[in-house]
Amino acid sequence: MRKKIKSLLHKLGFHTEPPEPKAAFDLVCGMEISISSAKHTLVYNNEVYYFCSESCYNHFNNDPGKYAGDGKI
Ligand SMILES: [Zn+2]
Repeated sequence: MRKKIKSLLHKLGFHTEPPEPKAAFDLVCGMEISISSAKHTLVYNNEVYYFCSESCYNHFNNDPGKYAGDGKI
């Protein structure tokens, strides 16, 4: 039985959706943000970051390196 489930999951793996950037994560609070309806965005290191609120936006903006994890301290 377990083997069957495993192979089934493996099969399903080939049918997973391509990673379309429809959603992003708010790195401050961890919430999933819908890109199409995001109101708070910030470009940092040529990457766009999305936030659920102005509060999270400000947290990131005050210390982007801490959240973006670019290796700089
Ligand atoms: Zn947030």
